[in-house]
Order: sequence, then structure tokens, then C-alpha cells
Amino acid sequence: MSFSSLGLSEPILRALDEIGYTTPTPVQLEAIPAVLSGRDVMAAAQTGTGKTASFTLPLLQRLAGGTRVKGNHIRALVLTPTRELAVQVEQSIAAYGKYLALKSGVVFGGVKINPQMMRLRGGVDVLVATPGRLLDLFGQNAVKFLQVETLVLDEADRMLDMGFIADIHKILALLPKRRQTLLFSATFSSDIRTLTGGLLKDPLQIEVSPPNSAAKSVKQWAYEVDKSKKSALLSHLVRSKDWQQVLVFTRTRNGADRLVRKLESDGVLAAAIHGDKSQKERTRALAAFKANTVRVLVATDIAARGIDINELPQVINFALPKVAEDYVHRIGRTGRAGLEGEAISLVCADEVKLLSAIETLIRQTLVREVEPGFIPAHKVPLTRQMKVRPKKPKKPKKPKQEREPCDAQRTGGKQKRGSDKPRRGGTPQDADKPKRAADSRAKQRRANDAVPATKGLPLKSKSPARKK
Ligand code: AMP
Repeated sequence: MSFSSLGLSEPILRALDEIGYTTPTPVQLEAIPAVLSGRDVMAAAQTGTGKTASFTLPLLQRLAGGTRVKGNHIRALVLTPTRELAVQVEQSIAAYGKYLALKSGVVFGGVKINPQMMRLRGGVDVLVATPGRLLDLFGQNAVKFLQVETLVLDEADRMLDMGFIADIHKILALLPKRRQTLLFSATFSSDIRTLTGGLLKDPLQIEVSPPNSAAKSVKQWAYEVDKSKKSALLSHLVRSKDWQQVLVFTRTRNGADRLVRKLESDGVLAAAIHGDKSQKERTRALAAFKANTVRVLVATDIAARGIDINELPQVINFALPKVAEDYVHRIGRTGRAGLEGEAISLVCADEVKLLSAIETLIRQTLVREVEPGFIPAHKVPLTRQMKVRPKKPKKPKKPKQEREPCDAQRTGGKQKRGSDKPRRGGTPQDADKPKRAADSRAKQRRANDAVPATKGLPLKSKSPARKK
């Protein structure tokens, strides 16, 4: 199946041809005709599946055939949870719309508002925005929603995780009721279903890959190594295997900086991207990595979400994540759009439990390797995937007066720590301390547009292949 058979117009096909896309991905096959026909769409599709093009291509085509945009107005609004994702989506729009006379723009927090107000003055056909800054601009009369024909909620689950729900409701109340709505989310959780109740009209539902699985095209394996030798092993692997573009995950910001220093002292050019770095520094590091002027980009989990690098060949887990799901997000940075990728974990003896949790989640045991010269003094015990215990039959309820006090009673009515409910407040700095991912994510709200987010949960392979 080709893009032309999906009903896309010549200027868009020409742009796609130049970019080098030949075959639509599964989500594009389903979403493009539906969006072109004006239908609402609700898609469970993660980063890496080609979801951005699945909504931007038909959106641009519809806008190209419509009315002129008035000053300060917009005709389509794409909401994203983070500024990095916003920038990437707008870059895609500009690339796909290269041969169309449409104006696009991007607005996000953490930078001066004036240039964004200036950009909006003449009107913009497609605006990509993070929720907080969009509301600020609306409050200053810089943006008007009366001409909005299409709303896209990108990575809706992440927006909810990050506590944007109130802002989203405010924005929804400002938009025209007659519009097309497209919603993309890694999962269709009950929170997402609550949000979408009444928001979408007879949506086409699309689901392209099951959650908690890695792309089939990603080869995964682990090196057993002592903790103290991890950085030396990493430098050795990068050089001996001639890896040119490696994304490395650490757990902490200090750990990321330390590792960059160590790699550079070993002669491997590296840069770090994490919550302590300014937007400018992060953009610069990412640009250098994309341009292959640095070989290794060291990132913390939160900072890495939403990074889109074409054909990223290797992802290294320098330290295993404390939250097993983050492993799947991490390795979702490679093996995108069907390309081959490698996900390699450097595992030391005290990470056995983390490894076991990951293997349980992805339902496979990672192949273990030992690199000559780095044989661990402390053997990493083989983990057994945790057994999923069958649910115990429910005990009959005790009569009321004998029951234990509930959490709320015990805590004087306050919400208990670790409860599922997103909590408010917190700073971007908290983000890289992953004591509990859900907790951290909920802490990052608006001010936290700074921190990228994306779920990438594509598919697992049962028998891990390994690289010799
Ligand atoms: P996304 O899921 O939108 O983040 O896209 C993941 C990556 O796949 C991006 O680098 C896109 O440029 C790329 N991509 C999207 N659609 C296609 C396609 N049809 N063929 C090849 N690459 C694609």
C-alpha cells in the first residue's frame, strides 16, 4: 500500500518522497483515510509507530483546502505534554507541509512569551502547544479559538500523568463544539476513557501494538559487569564495536554528568541531557547528537521521553530503571518504524531484582553476556521471572465494627503517599529521582513543560536474538 492510495494530495506526496517514506505504517494506514474524511479518531499508538505523520498528513491536507486564517486565530490545535514533543511535532508539520501554503507555529513554557505572541499575530493554521503556555497566551488575548476546526491531543495519557487535566478541561471549554477531535495515547486507561467521554463523536478506534512490549526489531541482551567497571566497559564497547550514535540511560543527573566526564576522558565524545540542564543546553546536546558530532548522549528517563532520533541504532541501560515500565520506554527509542535496533543493559549484582521485574514485565529472559576483560568478580545471579500469583479468593467481609480502619481514617483523611491519584506541585528537579515514576510524573506539571515525555511501548520478541 502506498501513500498515494490513501488519498493524499500531490504536494504532500512530494514532501514524503523527499523525506524518503515509501510505505505507510499500520497506524497511518488506518488513521489517514479516517482523518481525511473528517472523522474523529482515538488511537492507541506510541512514539515510534509513525503516529505523528498519521495525524499531521491528513490534517494538513484538510487545512490546505479550507478558509484563510484571521489574525491571532488558529485553525488546528495540537496539544502535547512537553516542549520537546511540541517542537518535534511542529518540525514534522513544517517538513510534511513544505509544499503547502500553510502557517504553523509552536508555543511552550519556560521561554519568553513575546516572540510567541508576535508569531500568532498574523494567525497560524496549525498551532502546536503545551497546555500551560497556551492558556497564558489566551489570557493575554494573543490566541483566539473561534476558527479551530481540529483538535489533536497527542500523548494524552502522559498529559494526564503530568497533571494537565484541569488545563485540558479549560482549553476544551474554549474551543468550538463543532470540530474534529483526534486523540493519541499509549494506552486507553480508564482515566483516558473518562476524559474522552463525550469528547469524541463516533471515533474510529485504532490500536497498533499491545502495551508493555518492545518492538520486534529490537535485539535485547545484557552484559554482566561489576558496578565499578561499568563506565570502562561502556567506553570499550563504544570503541571496539564502533558504535556511532548511542543513547545511554542513567538513573540520576549526577550519574549522567559523571559518565559524560568518564567517557570524554576515555576519548569518547559525549553530552548529557537531564532536568538540571537549561533548554538551550538540552537543545544543543540533542542537535550535536543528531548531527553525529557527539557519539554518546547520556540521558535520564524523564529527559529522554519524546526524543525522536531517526534510525537510532543502540540504546544502553547503564543503570537499570527502578520502574520496570521505564525499560520499555527506554528501548522504544530504537527499532522504530520497523528498523533494526539493539538494546543493551549493563547489569551488576545489586540490580538482580530490577532485572527480574523487567523480565517479568516483558515476558522474556534477556540473554547474558560477559565481555573478556570485564568478567565480574561478583557474579550476577540468574533471575527467575517473578511468578504472577493467582488471585486469592476474596475473604468474606468482617462485620463492620471489627474492620481495620481504612487508609483515610488512619491518615486523618489525607491521601496516602503512593496512592494512584496524581498529586500536584513538585519541580522539574524532582523528576529525575525515580522513586516512583507515577509519583514523579504527577509532580511535573505546567512549569514542567520542560521535561519531555513519551511512551514507547512497542512489541516483544519471545526469543531474544543477540549480537555476536
Ligand atoms: P512517531 O511515531 O511519529 O514518533 O515516528 C517515529 C519515526 O518514524 C519518526 O522518526 C518518523 O520520521 C518515522 N516515520 C514515520 N512514518 C514513517 C514511514 N511511513 N516510513 C518511514 N519512517 C516513518
